[in-house]
Amino acid sequence: MDAGFGSFAELRRHTDPARLDAIWISHLHADHSADLLAAVYGLAYGGLTPAAPLPVYAPDGCAQRLAGFFGRADVGFLSGVFDFRRLYEGHAIRHGELTLSAREVRHDVEAYGLRAEAGGRVLAYSGDSGPCPALGELARDAHLFLCEADIDAHRESEGGGQVHLTPEDAGRVARAARVRQLVVTHVGPTLTPEAATARAAAVFAGPVVAARVGAIHAV
Ligand SMILES: [Zn+2]
Repeated sequence: MDAGFGSFAELRRHTDPARLDAIWISHLHADHSADLLAAVYGLAYGGLTPAAPLPVYAPDGCAQRLAGFFGRADVGFLSGVFDFRRLYEGHAIRHGELTLSAREVRHDVEAYGLRAEAGGRVLAYSGDSGPCPALGELARDAHLFLCEADIDAHRESEGGGQVHLTPEDAGRVARAARVRQLVVTHVGPTLTPEAATARAAAVFAGPVVAARVGAIHAV
C-alpha cells in the first residue's frame, strides 16, 4: 500500500516480495509512488521476479510515469513484473480473503483512499486528502485508520481547496467514523509526530499513535 521513498527496502525487512498479492498506489506524487522504481529493479533485475506479473492498482498514467524513469515511451517492458490496473471511484477488488475498496478523495492530483477488509477486520487509509465525505465513508467502524496529518493549520492549495488534513481534521474523521484506533502518518515539517498525536487525541477519544518506521500494529 503506497510506495514512498525507501519503502521497498523496508518491505523486504518484513516480508518476501514473492508473498505480495498486489500493490496499491493512492496517487502518483513521488512520495507515494517513487519506490515502484526500486521494486522494478528488484523484481526484474534483482532475482526477485514474480511467478506472475504483480497487479498494481494505481491512478491512470502510473505505468507511463514509471517508464519515463527508463527514458521510454512504451510500457510493455514492464509487463513481466507489473500488471497495471487503473483505479477509479468505487473500485473494488478481491484477492483471496482480502477486499480492497477505493474512493476518490480530495487532493491536488487524482487520489484515492483505501478500505481493506479481511476476516471481518478493517484497515482504512486516507492516502493524501483534504476533508471530504469519502474519507469518513472509507473509515466507518474501521479497526485501524491510518490517516494523514500533514498540515498544522487550514490552508488553501494553489488550485484552491484544502488538499491535506490537520491533526484535528484527522481526529474529527476518526471520531465521526467511530474507528477503533487512529494512526497518524504523513506528518508534515511544521508538525512533530508528538504534536500531531496530541492534537488529534484532543478531538478523538480513542487510542491515537503516530506511525513509526518498523512499528507493528494489529488491525
Ligand atoms: Zn500527495
